Amino acid sequence: MDKQKLFICACNSVEHQLIMSYFIDDEIKDVYCSVHLKPERNVFKRIWKAIKYLFGHRSIYGDFDEFIFKPKDADKLQEIVDYLKNMNKPEQ
Ligand SMILES: [Zn+2]
Repeated sequence: MDKQKLFICACNSVEHQLIMSYFIDDEIKDVYCSVHLKPERNVFKRIWKAIKYLFGHRSIYGDFDEFIFKPKDADKLQEIVDYLKNMNKPEQ
């Protein structure tokens, strides 16, 4: 059975969201973090980015955005931390 935890950024933009997934029955305890990438709605900006990409342009800063965790999501994060911390415990 897999678990998924959705986190929405504290700025409340739905363009800033993370989904952390893990499989309870997996022998190897991995947690996957899916980051929603903000889509560009303006077609001309997308074309301009595509042209720059084709010519190998890269931002010196990389393509980053921020995500601010909400304090009320601490319990969801703790569940994931507990899952990872228990990865080396012997099975009962
Ligand atoms: Zn945000």
